[in-house]
Amino acid sequence: MGRFHHHADGTAHTHDLLPADRTAPDSVDRHHPAGDHSGYETGRLRVDVLARIFGENDRAADTNRELFRSAGVKVVNLMSSPGAGKTALLRETLLRLQTVARIGVIEGDIETALDADRLAGLGAPIALVNTARGFGGECHLDATMVRSALARLPLDELDLLIVENVGNLVCPAEFDIGQDVRAMVFSVTEGEEKPLKYPVMFRAVDLVVVNKIDLLPYLDFKMDCFYVNLRNVNPDVAVIELSVKTGEGLDRWCQWLTTILT
Ligand code: MG
Ligand code: ZN
Repeated sequence: MGRFHHHADGTAHTHDLLPADRTAPDSVDRHHPAGDHSGYETGRLRVDVLARIFGENDRAADTNRELFRSAGVKVVNLMSSPGAGKTALLRETLLRLQTVARIGVIEGDIETALDADRLAGLGAPIALVNTARGFGGECHLDATMVRSALARLPLDELDLLIVENVGNLVCPAEFDIGQDVRAMVFSVTEGEEKPLKYPVMFRAVDLVVVNKIDLLPYLDFKMDCFYVNLRNVNPDVAVIELSVKTGEGLDRWCQWLTTILT
């Protein structure tokens, strides 16, 4: 229970890695200025706050799910660390799959429209969510943030909605946004130990896209070791190795996406 950075009021944003049972984080103190700050109370308070936040999110996610179902759109929650290649993969996906399916995108970033701009002009409706605008600069998308973008998309006209989450290997995995499937992009430049260090993310997903395999000759990355680590935390997860740069493996990714639609 060392991590705490989800704020009920969304006004503050830190990434504390608190030693367990030490002082309460500021965000909790603020709401309970006269509270008992012993380790026991802090721990219980933290559990209460987290339970409330995740409970509220789960209800919002159920609402999203109902909206998606009635619109007949399937939804992918696409996650990764920053720079793994989500947006580049989405660009290629729109270029290849738009004739097969009507695709919309929610682009999540803390700041800037840089990635949304990279996806513009390809015929797909894009709704940008900057978490710094009204959502406390959070480092993930939650169900309410996704909901805020839906009015800007022609949901009824879409077959597939791909939500590019904020680049972050930690908390995006913890927030249900009402998706049908979760996928992540993992780049071989990140190192084969990452499934062990970020098990929540690797365990949460239905598919791991292993990107940048064109770089393998230049890296010390051990693919067999990566698979051992991955199977350790998620034995059944699907894996697609590809290179957005060379196009190798992109057909399999597109195939995987089309199977979601059926
Ligand atoms: Mg991106
Ligand atoms: Zn976050």
